[in-house]
Order: sequence, then C-alpha cells, then structure tokens
Amino acid sequence: MKPGVVIVGAGHGAGQAAASLRQFGYEGLITLIGEEDHPPYQRPPLSKAWLAGEADLGDVLYKPAAFWDEYNITVITGCRVASIDRPAKQVVCDDGVQVSYSHLILATGGRARRMNCPGEELSGVHVLRTLDDATALSEAMQAGKKLVIIGGGYVGLEVAATARKRGLDVTVLEAEERVLARVAGADLSDFFEKKHRQQGVEIKTGVMAQAFEGESKLTGVRLQNASMLEADIALVGIGLIPNFELADEAGLACDNGIVVNELCRTDDPAIYAIGDVTRHPNAIYGRSLRLESVHNALEQAKTAAGAIMAREKPYNQVPWFWSDQYDIKLQIAGLSAGYDETLVRGDMDANSFAVFYFKGGVLIACDAVNAPAEYMAARMMIAKGARLDRDMLADIKVPMKEVMAGAMTTR
Ligand SMILES: Cc1cc2nc3c(=O)[nH]c(=O)nc-3n(C[C@H](O)[C@H](O)[C@H](O)COP(=O)(O)OP(=O)(O)OC[C@H]3O[C@@H](n4cnc5c(N)ncnc54)[C@H](O)[C@@H]3O)c2cc1C
Repeated sequence: MKPGVVIVGAGHGAGQAAASLRQFGYEGLITLIGEEDHPPYQRPPLSKAWLAGEADLGDVLYKPAAFWDEYNITVITGCRVASIDRPAKQVVCDDGVQVSYSHLILATGGRARRMNCPGEELSGVHVLRTLDDATALSEAMQAGKKLVIIGGGYVGLEVAATARKRGLDVTVLEAEERVLARVAGADLSDFFEKKHRQQGVEIKTGVMAQAFEGESKLTGVRLQNASMLEADIALVGIGLIPNFELADEAGLACDNGIVVNELCRTDDPAIYAIGDVTRHPNAIYGRSLRLESVHNALEQAKTAAGAIMAREKPYNQVPWFWSDQYDIKLQIAGLSAGYDETLVRGDMDANSFAVFYFKGGVLIACDAVNAPAEYMAARMMIAKGARLDRDMLADIKVPMKEVMAGAMTTR
C-alpha cells in the first residue's frame, strides 16, 4: 500500500487532524504516532474534573476507543519519533522502526517547563502536562496536605481551585506583581486574587521560588529571600516549552515553534504542523503567534487536513480560550497584549462582568466572567476590528446586540 499521512503526536490536534482527513474523504493510510501511553485525550480536564476526581478515562478521551478502528486510523502509542528523513519521506522512531509518509503532520505540542533548581527531583514535586502527571498529582493530593503552586497562570490557579475543593492547604507563588500578569489586565488579576483568597488560598506575588528542600521527599520550598515554606506537594506550573526540536533537526524553519503559513504548511510542502507547537501568521493581529489552546489545535488540524485534500481554507481566527475555577467560567476572546485602554462592563462583585481591551480605539480582546453574551459578541467584533461606543458598552442595560449594531468596523 502507498505511504499515507503520518501524524507525529497523538494529542488533541493529532486526533482532530486524523478525523478531519477521513471527513474530507481521504482514503489512504493514516498513522498517529504518540510517545504517551494513551490514545488522544483532552488536556483541559486534567486541572479540573480529572484532578477533582469527577472524570474517568472515558470522559477525557478525545474519541471513544472504537472510533479509530471504525475509521481505519492506526494509533501507535508509547512510541517516540526520533527523527525525520525528509529525502526518504520517512519518520524514524526511537526503536528504529521507520514509517513512510506522503504527507507528514507534526502535532508535537509542548512539555512542562521545569525550574532546573536544586531538589526538583524530590518525590512530591510535580508538573502537569500529561494524563500521567495529573494522575500522580491527584494521588498525592490528600486533604490536609500542604500544596505550594509555583506559577499563578491559568493552570496553577485551576489546580489551586481544585485542591481547595479537595481540602488541601494551598499557597500560590507568583514571580510577577500579580497573577495572570502575562495574559490578562490588572482588573482580572485582582478579581482572581480576591476570589482565591476568599476560598482560603494564600497568594504571594513578587516572590521567586529558588529550591525544593527535603531528604528524598519534599518538605519545603525555599524562596529567593531565603525564607522557607513548608510543603508536602509542589506543583511547578511555569509554562510550556514547545516540542519543535524534531522539526529543527530536520532543517525546517523554526522560531521557538515550527514556522508554518496560513495553511499550516512548513517550508517543506509535504510537511504540516499544527497546535501548540506552531508559530503561525495571524492577519487579525498582524503578527505571528504561538498559541496554547484547544481551539487553535482543532482549527489548525482542520486547516492542515483540508490543505492535504486540496480544500484550502487559510487559518485566520480570533483566538479563544477558557478557564474554570470554583463557580467562575472565564471565556477569553482575542489577545490583550499591547492594549492601551480597558473597559469593565457588568458587576465584578456579582461574578458577572467582562473586561474589554482596546488598542488605538479598536477592540482586541475580552475576558468574560460568567458573561457568555459579551464573549460571543466580542469574538465577532474583534474579527471585524470594531470600534465601540463606550457609553453603550459600559451600560449593562444596553444589550450586546445593540452595542454591536452601533459599532464601526475597520475590517
Ligand atoms: C492542565 C492543562 C489544562 C488546560 N486547559 C485548557 C483550557 O481550559 N482551555 C484551552 O483552550 N486549553 C487548555 N489547555 C491547553 C490545551 O490542552 C493544548 O492547547 C492542546 O492540548 C494542544 O494540543 P496539541 O495537539 O497541539 O498538543 P498536545 O495535546 O500537547 O499533544 C502533543 C502530543 O505529542 C506528543 N509528542 C511530542 N513529541 C513527540 C515525538 N517526537 N514523538 C511522538 N510523540 C510526541 C506529546 O507527548 C503529546 O502527547 C490546557 C493544558 C493543560 C496541560
């Protein structure tokens, strides 16, 4: 049989790329090769329902186990692709097995960033990227234990919320002056810090962890100011390193991610890349982006599968994300980096509001807390480069439909 499409990685993007190829009528071989011991699964529940003990494997799998057989998709797990032989159009696995491809899709995501500090190897120090990481963390999270989370980003804060639910004593350490500093404005950071403190989480900002202490098991986290925090468990939640080395070593263009065009194609026409690992152009923001979100992974998967099937549909979307903490559903449309003005609509004390971010008068992002209408409207208006009437927007009595009707669009 002729070589078909090989997908390296068996995560969210990979699973969708395989499904989309079949949906678009691809009849050749499809092989997913993933280094984890699981078929494609969803990572968002790992810090939420899975850690809370409210989900089982069936709930987190991306597709039911029977799906892959039904659509004749080969899923190879526990196998790491070590290199790409571009002239021979083959990938070479760690165990020496070679798999030929007509088209290759790299969906290698990223790995948890480590502190690289003394004591990081101690039992009790965790990261959270994979299902196995989440299972190990969940097993360690006994009520009454002291958990120190290093990093006040979304994953760290979600784990803090889940751990409080499970009765742990939780401290979050954030090096910046506020949590979520890299991804949100001060209004949202203040809101989340307040909510977590109300739930009994200790949040320390402007604080750097320097080392983990203990003999073989963690007993504490030492801070840069030399003080010590007692800890039974630590979670290092300081972001992700994209897995682009495979592409880099194969001579593909990389820039802290695999560089692709709007069709998710690399500089080799037979090789595509999708998901967290890509650096891709975005016409809405006029710059290249590397995003870490399910929406991005799924949409790029559809774009790459479409391009292989000569159904070219350039990827150019408003990024969106979500985060669930306690009873708060945060939905984020767009990217707020570079904003010069914000407007809060709604009531922060009532847990129902949206922060709108503008740059040069144009809407670029919105963080909506329990405010789905604001979120949906923002997604549409960001795509159009909308200028909004601030008085209408600030007045919660004016429905979002009317605010949209009164907007001036620049795209
Ligand atoms: C705890 C947690 C919570 C999250 N919550 C949210 C959320 O609420 N909302 C949201 O939008 N996003 C969330 N995300 C992010 C989201 O899960 C990712 O954006 C998404 O999984 C990216 O999909 P991907 O296919 O690009 O990569 P991944 O899902 O990371 O899959 C990549 C796979 O490739 C494998 N791989 C890498 N190199 C090789 C190799 N050489 N050979 C074989 N296999 C390899 C990796 O082991 C991995 O299994 C969360 C992530 C985490 C970790």
